[in-house]
Amino acid sequence: MNMEISTPEEFFGFQLGSDRKIARWDKIVDYFWLLMKQSDKLRVIDMGPSTEGNPFLLIIISSPKNLVNLERLREVNLKISNPRGIYEDEIDGLIDEGKAVICQSMSLHATELGGTQMAPELAYDLVAREDEETLRILENVIFLMVPCFNPDGQIMVTDWYNRWLGTEYEGVSLPWLYHKYVGHDNNRDAFQTNMIESEYIAKILFREWIPQAYLDHHHMGSYGARIYISPHNDPIHPYADPLIWIEHRWYGAHASYKLEEAGKSGVLSGAEFPAWENMGFHTITRYHNICGLLTESASAKLATPMYVDASQLTSGIPNALRRRSFPHYKPMTTFPNPWPGGWWRLRDIVEYKKIAAWAILDIAARNKETVLRTAYLKAKRQSERGAKGSPFAYIVSKTQHDPLTSEKLIQKLLIQGIEVKKASKEFTVDGVTYPEGTYIIPLEQPKMGVIKTLLGITLFPEDYWTQYDDGSPIPSIDTDTDTMAEFMGVRVDPIPSRFEGDFEVVTDYEKPVGKTMGRSTIGYAFDGRLNDSFRALNRLQAKGVKVQRTDEAISVGDTTLPPGTFVAPPGCEAILEEAARETGLDFHALDEPQEAKKHDVRPLRVGLYQGYWGGNADEGWTRWLLESFEFPYSPVVDDDIRKGGLRQRLDVIVFADNKTPLITGEGVEEWWRENMPLNRPFPVFPPEYRSGIGGEGVEALKKFVEEGGTLVAFSGACEFAIEKLGLNVMNVVEGLEPRDFLCSGSTLRVRVDNSNPLAYGMPEEALVFNWDGPAFRIVPSAFNERSEAVVRYPERDILRSGRLIGEEKIAEKMAMLSVRCGGGRVVLFGFRPQHRGQTHGTFKLFFNTLIC
Ligand SMILES: [Zn+2]
Repeated sequence: MNMEISTPEEFFGFQLGSDRKIARWDKIVDYFWLLMKQSDKLRVIDMGPSTEGNPFLLIIISSPKNLVNLERLREVNLKISNPRGIYEDEIDGLIDEGKAVICQSMSLHATELGGTQMAPELAYDLVAREDEETLRILENVIFLMVPCFNPDGQIMVTDWYNRWLGTEYEGVSLPWLYHKYVGHDNNRDAFQTNMIESEYIAKILFREWIPQAYLDHHHMGSYGARIYISPHNDPIHPYADPLIWIEHRWYGAHASYKLEEAGKSGVLSGAEFPAWENMGFHTITRYHNICGLLTESASAKLATPMYVDASQLTSGIPNALRRRSFPHYKPMTTFPNPWPGGWWRLRDIVEYKKIAAWAILDIAARNKETVLRTAYLKAKRQSERGAKGSPFAYIVSKTQHDPLTSEKLIQKLLIQGIEVKKASKEFTVDGVTYPEGTYIIPLEQPKMGVIKTLLGITLFPEDYWTQYDDGSPIPSIDTDTDTMAEFMGVRVDPIPSRFEGDFEVVTDYEKPVGKTMGRSTIGYAFDGRLNDSFRALNRLQAKGVKVQRTDEAISVGDTTLPPGTFVAPPGCEAILEEAARETGLDFHALDEPQEAKKHDVRPLRVGLYQGYWGGNADEGWTRWLLESFEFPYSPVVDDDIRKGGLRQRLDVIVFADNKTPLITGEGVEEWWRENMPLNRPFPVFPPEYRSGIGGEGVEALKKFVEEGGTLVAFSGACEFAIEKLGLNVMNVVEGLEPRDFLCSGSTLRVRVDNSNPLAYGMPEEALVFNWDGPAFRIVPSAFNERSEAVVRYPERDILRSGRLIGEEKIAEKMAMLSVRCGGGRVVLFGFRPQHRGQTHGTFKLFFNTLIC
């Protein structure tokens, strides 16, 4: 029996969602632990610490009987989700015994407060209400609630809000990233799971539970619909079972109905948010056969109410949104009851969200058998498609440019719960012999859609949904592709038809362990083609060990290592052995002095520019990558640059992708007005957070380069470098209309000059990730030789995955170059070498700028 259950209002001292009040995550955590003490219908599971050490919780709510029987119910659920080898008649019994498993996550984006503020009330209602509807949910549903996807961000936003409460800056959004590294990009991490929070969610969604539906609660802009709920509009991303898109309508219709029934206006559905999105959690789940749903609530000013006049209400960008079934702010089938305008409060968001969240549980409870049978059908049919379709499997060969990175790809597939097999003997397919230990990923499995998405080629559609009437393109809402193997530079062989061999399912994956091969009095070579060699290098340098790098190929035993091989001196064996164990690197003992030309690797002092304006996720990812590979660096803020004398303190300054006004701080408001949608007004930050290096900062950077420093710029920041440092370089796609040139997050083929030290360790042909980035040609001058191409686009067939309009504009142009200026240089990356920590295939091009 339940004890008296504390209401959220009693516990927090106010009704959640009240004007100007935010319950902080630590307090919410306490409330859930209290509920667990007071009720046998709720269990709190602490998944572990977040990036900055706050608890990441999973709340499981169901009937007391189900909770006692939870492990058995979980097993039943996994069998339904992966029914291979189970007879049809057994399935009926499993569906009868099983429960609908529904997962919902709150406030993945930390400024989108409503979900997390709603979660305690939703939990309270479920455990305290005794009516038939509630009891039906508890009996038939196992509800997995992630009450806060980003605990660190929730705390940052709460404290920020309270700091400015009662001032003219009340309600302005956070000026820096609301996560230590990734901010808004945290749901772009679903397939690479670089962040610990992503790993926790992946464990719940992809391996331990595989729920039938997953609803992720977000906010959107303030001037349109009050809430959006799936279904989505076109285009759709391929490879999901068609039932997914039908389930979207089914769940979405019930949520919309319940909102309308409760008298809530402004509900939008089947519009605005396309079914081809970034590979976020609510997106990737669809290829896992989980109905990944979305709510997007209109935002207030954090917890401050917002007034919206009727004349301000809009569907957004009319031309694009016509294609997205929301052409104007009037009643229509996707939006039958427009909200009339007026005050909009956090409490409204909480109430709308709670109705939508409850509705998904309610419809699943009323239709448990259908929900489970659909799960079974999706899993079965996807496996059958995999068995009959082509390719039959992907092989991750052992012959890789960077075999340790291909092991990382396998680890990431296993995190997704994908079945991976390993050959216990050599085998031959299509005339190619693969050795023992080769990985095989067969498509005959329920997660066939995820595998094709991550390992295959994906082309963005060119059709009605992606073009205006005049044929010009409508850009996608994030990247045009998220093809993991391409990003990682891992060779994956699609094998068209069925083949056999001695293959075993990988159950206990063991990370590769390297070794120090022999002892040497001359030194130890390690391969510059492997990303992990840079970790070893950084460890050696941190201990003061002098490492050299060869400028020619060297032979070690029967292996030849290319230019760019690292050589460590004798005496550092203990460091090498530790690095071998942790990274899988092999260290080759040299048995005779090497004649090859070499140079000392200098430990460079690296700075990474950090501004405000809401934070720059590309900078955050860069920081994360540097830390992951153990590069020492210091953040560089405006004052560091403005005060000058940079060369005395730093050797390299890195500018992540950014816009010139946001770096200089000049003309930001004008830039915002011209480039941001009308319904995203310019945020008025407190003066100390309106960052910019100003004219004096530009002068200081010029001096830094003149005096021998290296300035590295990624993608958009190249325009800043070209303009402000007066480089004789032109961006050939600058100012082109999308109909003439568009490349919004696609993988492109390039040729690499790997005899240039900046490209040591790279293959001659590679793929780069370009997201609205520049491509370069040299402007004729008396000093053309000062610019060196490092990476160049080929003449044709440039696109691999995604979308590329106007290929000829970048054909044979430079994708990366180095420009000498005075004693130093500027290295321009038109693409993103470290995009979201995902593009392992081009990390080395960035790393090389930090060591030579
Ligand atoms: Zn969001």
